Amino acid sequence: MDDRSRPASSLTKEDICMHVGDEYDRYMGAIVPPIFQNSLFTRKTKDHGYTYTRVSNPTTEIAEKKIAALEEGEEARCFSSGMAAITAALMSVLEKDGHVVCPRNVYPPTKGFLDTYMVKFGIRTTFVSGESTEEIEAALLPDTKVIYLETPLSNVFTLQDLQAIADIARAKGIVTIVDNTWATPLYQNPIAFGIDMVVHSATKYMGGHSDILAGVIIGRKSLMDEITHRERGMFGAVMDPHQAWLLIRGLRTLPVRMKQHQENARKVAAFLEGHSMVERVLYPGLPSHPQYDLACRQMMGCSGLFSFVPKGDRQQIVGFMKRLRLFEEGPSWGGFESLINSPGLWLSEEASAQTGVPQGLVRISVGLEHADSLMEDLETSLNKITIA
Ligand SMILES: *Cc1c(COP(=O)(O)O)cnc(C)c1O
Repeated sequence: MDDRSRPASSLTKEDICMHVGDEYDRYMGAIVPPIFQNSLFTRKTKDHGYTYTRVSNPTTEIAEKKIAALEEGEEARCFSSGMAAITAALMSVLEKDGHVVCPRNVYPPTKGFLDTYMVKFGIRTTFVSGESTEEIEAALLPDTKVIYLETPLSNVFTLQDLQAIADIARAKGIVTIVDNTWATPLYQNPIAFGIDMVVHSATKYMGGHSDILAGVIIGRKSLMDEITHRERGMFGAVMDPHQAWLLIRGLRTLPVRMKQHQENARKVAAFLEGHSMVERVLYPGLPSHPQYDLACRQMMGCSGLFSFVPKGDRQQIVGFMKRLRLFEEGPSWGGFESLINSPGLWLSEEASAQTGVPQGLVRISVGLEHADSLMEDLETSLNKITIA
C-alpha cells in the first residue's frame, strides 16, 4: 500500500485532511470520491462489507477516517447534526438514575437535554463554572457517570483543564466527553489528555461554508461500534452521504481556513481590546485572558469566535451591530462569513450574576474577509456610539 496506509500519527494534520481515507483504486481513480447516494447494498454476487446506509456508507466512512485521525482517536461516527452526536454520546454511557457534572455555560441545547430531557430517566446534572478543577471534583457524587466538558465555552470563553480533569475521572472510572467544536481537531486534541470521547458540531468550522448541518463522535472502537448499532442505528440520526461529501470537501481546506480565521481573530481581538468604546474582550488567544497559560498548554491555536462587551446601553449596542456592513447578524459560526450576535444583551442583572455571562455581551465570528476591512467596519460603528 502507499503512504495513505501509514499510521495517522506519522502524518501531519494537513496530510490527513488531503489524503487519509481516500482510496483511489476503489473509485476508478476519481480524485474526489463519489457520493454513494444509495440506501441499500446488494450482496447477491459478492459481500462488500456494506448493507444499509443507516449502518455504514463508503462516502461517510471517508469523513470518519479523516476526523478520527485528526483527533488522534481510534474511530469516528458521523451524525446528522452536532446535537445528534452529543445526545448519542451522552445516551451511550448514561444509565437510569446516573449523575453528570457539566459547565453551566455549555451550548444551550446540550444544557436543555441534560436538565430537562434526561430528567425523565432520573438523571441529575450538577452545573459548575468549570474554571476550577477543585470545583468539578467537589461536585462529583458516588454515582457520577459522566463529566461533560466544552472548552473553551462558546459564549464566555473560559476553559476547563483537560489533563487535570481526565486524571481525576480516570481514577474514579468516570467517562469524560468533550465538545471540541470551537478549537477544531487542528487546535485541540482532548483524547491525547486522556479524555474518552470527543464530539463536534461539524456544522461550524469543519464544514466551514454554512451549507451543512453535521456532527461527529470520536472514541474507542468498541464504543463506536456499540453506538453504530444502538444510538445511531436505533435513533437513526445518521449523516446523509451528500452531507458527508460536503464535509469531506470542507476538511480539505480546514487547515488553510483555520490559519486565516486565527490570524484575523487575533488582529480583531487585539484591536477591540485597545478601543476606548470596548469594556473587555473575552478571547483565549489574548495574553490578558485569565486562563491564557492553560490555553497555551492545552491548545495549539485559537479559532475565530469570541466575545466582547462594548460600552453603551442596549439601544446603543443594537445600533452598533446594525451599522456594521460586513458582519451579518446570526447565532451560528465557523463559516466563511463574519457574524455578530448578542447573547448578553437582554440578560437581567440576576441572570448575569448567576451564569457569569456579562450583561451587554456581544459575540463575533471572525470570517475570512480581510482583517483590515473588518477592523475598519468595527471602528466606524464603535466610534458612532455616543455616551452622554
Ligand atoms: C452549534 C453547536 C452545537 C450543535 O451543533 P448542530 O450541528 O447545530 O446540531 C454543539 N456545540 C457547540 C459548541 C455548538 O456551537
